[in-house]
Amino acid sequence: MSDTATHTETSANRETLGFQAEVKQLLQLMIHSLYSNREIFLRELISNASDACDKLRFEALHNAALMEDQAELEISISFDKTARTLTVSDSGIGMSREEVINNLGTIAKSGTREFFSRLSGDQQKDANLIGQFGVGFYSAFIVADKVTVLTRRAGEKNDQGVRWESDGGGEFAIEMIDKPTRGTSITLHLREGQDDLLSGHKLRAVIQKYSDHIVQPIVMHKEEWKDGGYQTLEETETVNQAFALWARAKNEITDEQYKEFYKHVGHDMTDPLAWVHARVEGRQEYTQLLYIPARAPFDMWQRDAKHGVKLYVRRVFIMDDAEKLIPAYLRFVRGVVDSNDLPLNVSREILQESKDIEAIRAGCTKKIISLLEDMATNDKEKYTLFWNEFGRVLKEGIGDDAVNREKIAGLLRLASTKANTPETSVSLSDYIARMKEGQDKIYYITADTFNAAKNSPHLEVFRKKGIEVLLLTDRVDEWVVTNLHSFQEKSLVSVAKGGLDLGDLEDESEKLAQQKEADEFKELTDKISTSLAGRVKEVRVTHRLTDSPACLVVDEQDMNANLARMLKAAGQQAPNTQPILEINPRHPVVLRLQREENKFDDWVSVLFDQALLAEGGQLDDPASFVKRVNQLMLEMSGS
Ligand code: ADP
Repeated sequence: MSDTATHTETSANRETLGFQAEVKQLLQLMIHSLYSNREIFLRELISNASDACDKLRFEALHNAALMEDQAELEISISFDKTARTLTVSDSGIGMSREEVINNLGTIAKSGTREFFSRLSGDQQKDANLIGQFGVGFYSAFIVADKVTVLTRRAGEKNDQGVRWESDGGGEFAIEMIDKPTRGTSITLHLREGQDDLLSGHKLRAVIQKYSDHIVQPIVMHKEEWKDGGYQTLEETETVNQAFALWARAKNEITDEQYKEFYKHVGHDMTDPLAWVHARVEGRQEYTQLLYIPARAPFDMWQRDAKHGVKLYVRRVFIMDDAEKLIPAYLRFVRGVVDSNDLPLNVSREILQESKDIEAIRAGCTKKIISLLEDMATNDKEKYTLFWNEFGRVLKEGIGDDAVNREKIAGLLRLASTKANTPETSVSLSDYIARMKEGQDKIYYITADTFNAAKNSPHLEVFRKKGIEVLLLTDRVDEWVVTNLHSFQEKSLVSVAKGGLDLGDLEDESEKLAQQKEADEFKELTDKISTSLAGRVKEVRVTHRLTDSPACLVVDEQDMNANLARMLKAAGQQAPNTQPILEINPRHPVVLRLQREENKFDDWVSVLFDQALLAEGGQLDDPASFVKRVNQLMLEMSGS
């Protein structure tokens, strides 16, 4: 991504700078795709103003001088009918010149690249994406054809402020100004046809709809009906409740208010999927209001992805993205935790060590897990939406969170041979409920793709006996099965690992027949072993297969072949273990092999390579494999 600012002109202290290319694109997109929802610009500007007040209040805890001589933190909204402007001002932290250039000239968000790569050019679809990405300050251009920002950082000497102005084209102008009051004031010069916004009634209605939950007072001039129109008075009034939403009683909050608050804390334009609001009392006292978004944020897979839970202490904002508040596998959760016990001067360093925070984190984790359990039981459709968006993240919890492992396992939704589609819809409890008589294990296979899993030779005997097998094809599934050894006391067993022990699923006569075959084929398996020396650990007869001549399995204590391949592909260390070759004593190719003399080594080599291919492996020497197969084909066709 290019940095801001192609510098084009300097005069006295006024400069014109170019927007970062992505900003131009974003502006275009926003103006066109969000027009039908144009009122949201006010919510976005008020939301930013509120964050700016929160930041100042927090910084002032360490540096009281920042408050200067104006202690109130508030947001005011005013308009000028003649000039056709609307102004949103706040007495918050403000911005320095450098901050203005960075914040209002670029998009400094993780996930930006991902966002732009997903744009399709289809307005409807892109409008959805943009909502998910978050629009923020730039949404002012939906209704304005010129925006002027006056801002001064709190504590700045000599009242040095900054004026930023742009028509939303390719550039913005910036100059230093005198600004006696700290904070930011954003003036929108409305586009043609937007005059309905120049009304106290209209603005109050929009504020009450979208921004009532804002903690700071939102102040407007009072109005009076006179001479057939509203007259604006000097006197002002607060037009929102100006009281932390999470600190109110649950029965005093409407769903709409919960949703609007989510859009503010979650920087999202879409309604959340679910939320939980609870006050915890006892040794630790805190309030939690946690949301599950309906859609994954763009930066979910980024390593530096931000965690979206804000920490407050006795209603004072302390920090964004307090990663200690919520485990990484719940990083999609957004919301607020407000502690009654932590000191106001708590820092990230203190949080790292804090036992109180650990207790809060455990409490939040528990709440989210119960919320999900509840959804999974009572609203399956919603849970499917959740699972499709965040299932792969939640799976990380199986490895990360030993305490809640069993519960998280209960929330898994997986593909299986019973469902026979890539849909992940089978829970481990479903699986257990329909286990065959005599079955005491949960069988699974891991592979690179759904088709590789579904068609794996390892499933042949399971299909024949009608035993369900879970088909695990997410990368993270290897991590899941490495850590999840059992569920409801049933052990999880890979169908491609170790000797196949079907326990009571096989009867005595089958077991006897197998033993007999093993003895009968001893000579052949020994001979193959010698031929494949150095490539296999062992060769043995199997009853796993019905249609295929051979397959590879790994020894009980060795690493899954799929995992070993994944690690190697990621440039990591993986042990070089040798597989076990199992042959199907009833397959015509194997029977034919018993009689083969001249080309025995070639046949065996092909058999081995095929088995490796069938399970998704890569051949060491593909060219020789092709040559051998061609030779065999020629011999068979009699040439
Ligand atoms: P977001 O709020 O999602 O980060 P925006 O584009 O709305 O994105 O804003 C970019 C940045 O500009 C904010 O993160 C903040 O640092 C700064 N900013 C915006 N509005 C204000 C304001 N009223 N006061 C101080 N800083 C602001």
